[in-house]
Order: sequence, then C-alpha cells, then structure tokens
Amino acid sequence: MIPPIADRFVAGESIAAALDHTRELNESDVKVILNLLGEHYDNRQEADADAETYRQLIDEIAATELAGAVSVKPSQIGLDIGDEVFAENYERIVAHAAEKDVFVWCDMEDAETTDITLDVFESMAETYPWQVGQCIQSNLKRTADDLERLVDVPGTIRVVKGAYDEDRSIAFKNKSQVNEQYREDISFLFEHRDRGIAIGSHDPEMIDHARSLADEHGADYEIQMLMGVREDAQRSLASEGVEVWQYAPYGEKWFSYFYRRVRERKENALFAVRAVLGR
Ligand code: FAD
Repeated sequence: MIPPIADRFVAGESIAAALDHTRELNESDVKVILNLLGEHYDNRQEADADAETYRQLIDEIAATELAGAVSVKPSQIGLDIGDEVFAENYERIVAHAAEKDVFVWCDMEDAETTDITLDVFESMAETYPWQVGQCIQSNLKRTADDLERLVDVPGTIRVVKGAYDEDRSIAFKNKSQVNEQYREDISFLFEHRDRGIAIGSHDPEMIDHARSLADEHGADYEIQMLMGVREDAQRSLASEGVEVWQYAPYGEKWFSYFYRRVRERKENALFAVRAVLGR
C-alpha cells in the first residue's frame, strides 16, 4: 500500500484505486488523466506488458463512463528498445482507445526523443483525428518551429515549461526566458487554433494569460495540473466552468515519482516533513 504521504501525489497501486480517485475527482468536475508509472524499459516484455495494461485501463475507463484519459511515456512502451517498438505499441494503445472513445496523451521525455515522438504523434493524429494529444516543452529552443509544424495537425497539444535538464545549446536555462517563451507558445496556440489547446502548468500567471486569450479568441482549451499540486485551484477553476484535467500517476513504481515531487519544490518537501512529524 502507498503510505499516506505519497498518496497525495499518487492515485494508488492498482487500476481499481486509480478509478476510485478518478470517480472522486469527477464529483468536483475535475477530469483525470491516468499515467501508469514506469519508464526506460530496456526489454520488450516490460514495454509490451505496460502497453497491455494501458489497454485494460482504457477498457475500464470506457466501461465506467468516467471522465478519464490516459497518458503514456515513450520510453515506457519501448522507445529505448527501438523507435519501431514505441510506434507499434503506441498504435496498439491508440487504436484500442479510439474504438472505446478514450483520449490518449503522450508525455514528452528528453530532447533526444523529440523528433520520433512528434513523428509518431503526427501519424497517429492523422489516422485517429482528435483522439490523441502530445506534450511539447517551451524550454526547448526548437519548440516555436515545432508548433508551426503541428498547428494544423488534428491532435491536442499540451504545452509545458519542460522538466528535463537540457544542454544550453538547445534549451533556455534561465527561468525568466522559459516563462517568456511559454507565454509566447500559449499565445501562438490561441492565435492559430480554435481547439486542441492544453495548458500544463500550476503557474497562476500563465493560467490567467490562457484564460484571457481564450476570452479574446473564443477557443476551446483545458488546464492540466498534477495530482497533489494546487488541488484547491483545480477545483475552483472547474467550479468556474474551466475544463480542468488532473494528471494522476498510479502503479507499483510510485517511489521514484514521489521522491521527484518532494525534491522539486520546498512546499512539497515541507508537506512531507510535516506528515512524518504528524502535524
Ligand atoms: P513553475 O515554473 O514550477 O512555478 C510557477 C508558479 O506556479 C510558482 O511560482 C507557484 O506560484 C506555482 N506553483 C508551482 N508548483 C507549485 C506547488 N507545488 N505548490 C504551489 N504552487 C506551485 N514536463 C515534461 O518535460 N514532459 C511532460 O510530458 C510533462 N507533462 C506534464 C503534465 C502536466 C499535467 C503538468 C502540470 C506538467 C507536466 N510537465 C511535463 C512538467 C512541466 O514541464 C513543469 O516542469 C512543471 O509543470 C512545473 O512548471 P509550472 O508551469 O507548473 O510552474
């Protein structure tokens, strides 16, 4: 069982626990993107097994009619083994999800994987229009060009600041530069699309920016935040009629994810310490 401190960030170890979490969030009009924890498999059995679990998860979401989607990581379904393993497993998942009308997201990993991930996204979106979404990272200098390329592709784009520590030759390193680029990328999407826009951020300034652009351009959009981070804001945005999706990881490999969340921000670390001390 997941200990009480970690269960702020992780929705449980099993599909059943993940669906219970989804049901509870749906009561506050927050929709849920479920991610089975796992990444960087170097053997095909593990990659295929996770792809199969995603297909089961999709069946369960469809059967319960919950407002839920899934999000996969390329290296979880075979990218470290070969581009074609990732592409094959992704298509198996997406084809099944399209049949069941469940939306599939793909996370973006380090910059060496950007080309293949975007190629696979483009091909899946052309085959299964508006059934897939792709994360894209504003800290990468290439992203403005990638957005130009993707703007007419029939898939949703989740724009995030970027979580990977990339080399300064290809990435903005300075926080204010990343923020500036993030604002620009959000503006670009609202100026060029009327649907398929997702803002993956906890940053109140960026959320306000997106909301005012949505008022100006009338485009459909959604806000996405992580489980355990600004959950009050998630509920309050949803109560104001904004489409909010919470990204909720689940699964047995929860420890390293939890550790990453605690290390990345002071607030999360303080929360963990208080929980251990019982106050
Ligand atoms: P930050 O720049 O970290 O913070 C800005 C402000 O937001 C803070 O000043 C504060 O006001 C508020 N804030 C942020 N965190 C907290 C907190 N814990 N508690 C209270 N207030 C807070 N990255 C990838 O590289 N690939 C992915 O596929 C990917 N998928 C993601 C999916 C989702 C749904 C989300 C939300 C993020 C994802 N990320 C991904 C991570 C992303 O790249 C950023 O690293 C992460 O979101 C932190 O940036 P931020 O925009 O939330 O705000």
